[in-house]
Amino acid sequence: MEALNPLNITLDAAPFPIFNKANIEVSVLRLDKIHSVISGNKWFKLRYYLEDFKKSTKKALITFGGAWSNHIVATAAACNQENIPCIGIIRGEEAATLSTTLIEARNYGMHLIFITRQDFKQKKLPQNLLSDENYIIPEGGYGILGMQGAATILEFVNKNNFTHVCCAAGTGTMAAGILKATNDNQQVVVISALRNNISLLGSINSLTCTESSRLQIFHDYHFGGYAHHQPELLKFMNEFYQQTKIPSDFVYTGKMFFAIADLATLKYFPEGSKLLLIHSGGLQGNTSLEKGTLIF
Ligand SMILES: *Cc1c(COP(=O)(O)O)cnc(C)c1O
Repeated sequence: MEALNPLNITLDAAPFPIFNKANIEVSVLRLDKIHSVISGNKWFKLRYYLEDFKKSTKKALITFGGAWSNHIVATAAACNQENIPCIGIIRGEEAATLSTTLIEARNYGMHLIFITRQDFKQKKLPQNLLSDENYIIPEGGYGILGMQGAATILEFVNKNNFTHVCCAAGTGTMAAGILKATNDNQQVVVISALRNNISLLGSINSLTCTESSRLQIFHDYHFGGYAHHQPELLKFMNEFYQQTKIPSDFVYTGKMFFAIADLATLKYFPEGSKLLLIHSGGLQGNTSLEKGTLIF
């Protein structure tokens, strides 16, 4: 199996005309390069859960996700590397043809169990899994250990060089980690990938145990909601790739890059700002798009 290598992370300039025009300097931290499957922020969010599991006497690891979940397949791959038995609780009925994400997770040895959307909402485990021998990682790695892992993302760059750190958010675990790891004079700009996720701010605050004036969340770049997309977004992702050679995923990073470009156009960032955009991976999810939609 392909080895996971955080040393593959690079800091790439994003030569995008909109950024030049706004007089801001934009760099992208390419977490997508550490591994094609355990991509981006997922390894960071998992690392301390895996350490905690190994220190414990638990026998198997359980986590939750949907059919296209980056977190599910990343957990499966990480457990495969570490020889940890793992179970994925999947939202909804088992489809006649499994998503490529779930096929991959199963190939890594993850045992998949499908539960109804209703049970999933309550994170209701099947009776036979309610054992003390199982170690549970919350959906998306949300939790203190997930946040602490995400905070180590900024160890791979000289963070003091930036005025703003920007990232996409689902559960907000990564955003909380970034907030923890940044300085008092740095802004953290978060783009929600979900529609109307009014609990995001509360989720972040409850992890960091503070309310921060350095945190700014944008809710208007969801393109229809979680895992939804629109032609405008896909067109932008292709243009962004053409100009910068940086690929993005349509669920998270594409929306984040789009939002930052839009905010730059609106002169949200003062001239001379130096932005660090976190490329949190997720490229495997693009396989759910029709072939030829993206040029990368
Ligand atoms: C999971 C994921 C996120 C969201 O991370 P949270 O910590 O849940 O907010 C962002 N980008 C990508 C590519 C992801 O896979």
